[in-house]
Amino acid sequence: MNDRDIKGRIFDIQRFSIHDGNGIRTIVFLKGCVLRCRWCCNPESQEYAIQTMMVQGKPKIIGQDITVGEVLDIVERDRPYYRRSGGGLTLSGGESLCQPEFARALLKGAADIGITTALESMGCAKYEVIESILPYLDTYLLDIKHMNGEKHREFTGRSNELMLENAKRIAASGQTELIIRVPVIPTFNDSPEEIREIARFADSLPGVERIHLLPYHRLGQDKYDGLGREYVMDGILPPTGGHMQMLKDIVTKNTDLDCQIGG
Ligand code: SF4
Repeated sequence: MNDRDIKGRIFDIQRFSIHDGNGIRTIVFLKGCVLRCRWCCNPESQEYAIQTMMVQGKPKIIGQDITVGEVLDIVERDRPYYRRSGGGLTLSGGESLCQPEFARALLKGAADIGITTALESMGCAKYEVIESILPYLDTYLLDIKHMNGEKHREFTGRSNELMLENAKRIAASGQTELIIRVPVIPTFNDSPEEIREIARFADSLPGVERIHLLPYHRLGQDKYDGLGREYVMDGILPPTGGHMQMLKDIVTKNTDLDCQIGG
């Protein structure tokens, strides 16, 4: 089968984004995730199944099957903006690696036509899957949420060993720019000690120079209502600007990493 005919399942495409990679980007959100993070702001991404979510009182179908060729046709429309800004295609989710063949074909298809690529992912897949996409990936935005496996399991549904091991292997490959991203979640990982531990691990990875601290926000809360699910983070407030700055200072004092708040 021609790569352009490979089908996958997405739930959104956002054009003209200035997040999740350099410059102006088109972000393709793939459906399906193996984690169930309590703070997830895209709960509609978690199930691979196509779902109905109530949005402002009206039912909305979440999920669409689409070919690689159809996605790339949309991505290509903004090529002049990528060229001027250093932007390109970003795959996000969910966890794109849950649809490995589709993700690989999208990244390869973009790379083949000279569009730069980024992947926003927590690296929870067999390394062989990650290895198959690295030749087509310019930037890997890798989430590391906690260094303690038990706490990781308690708040996300899975332990962190596979992801930490994959982080080491991706860094050792030297095939892509690797940027570490940490969602800063009150009650989970927002203490100076927890952030310092993650930052030191990130700093130990060969070639890693940048870390992003992403403050928890509640923008996804209404989606839980729309899906008929409970929002278990109710009552948890986003970290203040002062707290985020203190955590950034912890990172810069303890590592050589370039630390940025937000992504
Ligand atoms: S890894 Fe990301 S998409 Fe998956 S549940 Fe966690 S926050 Fe949501």
